[in-house]
Amino acid sequence: MSTMRAAVVKADFVIREGYEISQTELRTRKVREGNKVWKNPKLVLDTEYPKPKPGRGEVLIRVKACGICGSDIHFIETDEAGYMIYPGLTKFPVVIGHEFSGVVEEVGEGVKWIKPGDMVTSEEMMWCGQCDPCRAGYLNHCILLNDPGNLEFGELGFTHDGAMADYVVVKEKYVWKIDSLLDVYGSEEKVFEAGSLVEPTSVSYHAIFNRAGGFKPGAYVVVWGAGPIGLAAIALSKASGAGKVIAFEISPVRIELAKQMGADYVFNPVELEKKGMQPYEKILDVTGGEGADLHVEAAGAPEKTLPQMQRSLAIGGKIAWIGRAPTEVPIYLEIFQVRRSQLFGSQGHSGWSTFKNVIRLMAAGKIDMTKIITSRFNLDDVEKAFERAHKRIDGKITIKP
Ligand SMILES: [Zn+2]
Ligand SMILES: [Zn+2]
Repeated sequence: MSTMRAAVVKADFVIREGYEISQTELRTRKVREGNKVWKNPKLVLDTEYPKPKPGRGEVLIRVKACGICGSDIHFIETDEAGYMIYPGLTKFPVVIGHEFSGVVEEVGEGVKWIKPGDMVTSEEMMWCGQCDPCRAGYLNHCILLNDPGNLEFGELGFTHDGAMADYVVVKEKYVWKIDSLLDVYGSEEKVFEAGSLVEPTSVSYHAIFNRAGGFKPGAYVVVWGAGPIGLAAIALSKASGAGKVIAFEISPVRIELAKQMGADYVFNPVELEKKGMQPYEKILDVTGGEGADLHVEAAGAPEKTLPQMQRSLAIGGKIAWIGRAPTEVPIYLEIFQVRRSQLFGSQGHSGWSTFKNVIRLMAAGKIDMTKIITSRFNLDDVEKAFERAHKRIDGKITIKP
């Protein structure tokens, strides 16, 4: 049997006191709320992990670049009780990694559109295409993907072996070609780096354009949080004709990246507070009192961001909600009436040609997400890469096997 290198997250299955787990979750260990059962998580580089083989309808990809996502970091960070921070769908042990690109090495029986040698990236949401939400077009809300009793579908790098490895196998229906990026980047090396950023960029694209219905050219867009998702929102807004893009971020590295990605104004809320100012005052100031036509929440800090958004919504303004937070916060609905405003929750990146459109924007040179990669590591050094990731001083850390 041939083997490969793979970054594997392992954890003990210990049900948290007071948590009622279903019989199905007990049996399959595909659990809906990871932070309620996974204890003492560890990241290990396994150098003798079995190399996967593509089955029917599947492709084998040799991984060339794989980004570390915030969720990957939350897999190995723990709370006081030793449970992992990540609260969502998971099944361990698993090879992590879901923001990746590579070259197709082998295709299984029945594969139609992809061939060996193609440069590709892949969706992370492993949707079925047959359940009711899928058939309605809501692939990001696939029932089988979220069903603890179903082990065929799930999330790549969460419930199924992912791409922080030499090879990964995915179904053809999740794969997108990135060969078109070669013209703009010139080198394959760069194409693969850009390709590994299609997934996080698509998360922002989906929220702004599919869920919130986009904005008119000239609109004022405010982006909360300039991590990779926020940075993508900035780049996409700029490329789509926003009149002004205003960002809020506290990390100095990310403030600099926000400017590079096209933000016209970047403010540090902590610095503002020292001057006795609140973010909404800056927004009103910069927009001549009109407020934001679109707020993009990519900070996952509703208790901080929502009150500020409510005070700076333009008439007809929208909020696109991407940041995740297991927190309930008060909402002042009166604002949404008098400002004729709407809030759109967004999850995932699949469907509506989102991957295709993001790749086209990259190929046209309208967005260059590779600027956000600030550290690169070989797969052999994946543990060091995660040590650095804990410090949160980078835009994006990318593993290049
Ligand atoms: Zn991710
Ligand atoms: Zn489905």
